[in-house]
Amino acid sequence: MNFLLTAALFAADRHSEGRRKDEASSPYINHVLAVAEVLARYEIDDFVTLQAALLHDTIEDTKTSADELESAFGAEVCAVVLEVSDDKSLDKAERKRLQIVKSPQLSNPAKLIKLADMISNVSDIATNPPVNWSLSRRVEYLEWSEQVVRGCRGTHEGLEEYYDTILGEARGILEQGDQKEEQN
Ligand code: NDP
Ligand code: ZN
Repeated sequence: MNFLLTAALFAADRHSEGRRKDEASSPYINHVLAVAEVLARYEIDDFVTLQAALLHDTIEDTKTSADELESAFGAEVCAVVLEVSDDKSLDKAERKRLQIVKSPQLSNPAKLIKLADMISNVSDIATNPPVNWSLSRRVEYLEWSEQVVRGCRGTHEGLEEYYDTILGEARGILEQGDQKEEQN
C-alpha cells in the first residue's frame, strides 16, 4: 500500500506543472490517478502494475529518467513504464503508428495500463476534449485508440468490455455533435 502512495506522490511532484489539454487545463495528475483507479476498480491488485500505472507518463511527459525510476521503484516497474513510453526522438505520426504495431507484444501489465490509459483518454475525448480539436480529429483519435486496444485484447475481459462501453458512448456523443454541426 505504502509503495502505491510513494508512486502517487512521485507522480504528483513530477506532473505538478503538467496540465491536460482540455478547456479547464486540468491538472495532469488527475489522468494518472484515473488510470490507476480504473485498474483497481477491476480488481487488478498487482503492485508492479499499479505503481507503473501511476508512473506511466513520467518518462514521456516529465524530466524523469529510466535510471531514476529504477532506483526509486525497481527494475520491474521501470521496465513496464518504458514499455508504455513513446520514443520521443521519433515524429508524432510514427509514434502513433508504432503504438499500434507494438501493442500485441507488450507484457500483460503494460497491456492493462494501455487499456486503462485508452479508457481515460477516450472518455476525455468525449466529454473533456483538447481545446481546438475538430470533431473529425476526435473521431480519428477514437479509431486510432481502437487499433491500439485491438493488440491488447485477451488480457482482461472486464476491462476490455468497459473500454468498448466507453468507446460506444464516446461515438454516440460525437455523432450528436456531428448532427448539430449539420443543422447549423
Ligand atoms: P496527441 O497525441 O498530440 O494528443 C493526444 C494525447 O494527449 C492523448 O493520447 C493523451 O495522451 C493526451 N491528452 C491530454 N489531454 C487530453 C484530453 N483532454 N483528452 C484526450 N487526450 C489528452 O494528438 P493525436 O492523437 O492527434 O496525435 C497526433 C497525430 O495527429 C499526429 O500523427 C498528427 O499527424 C495528427 N494530426 C491530426 C490532425 C487532424 O486534424 N486530424 C491535426 C494535427 C495533427 P497521454 O495519455 O499520454 O496523456
Ligand atoms: Zn496517459
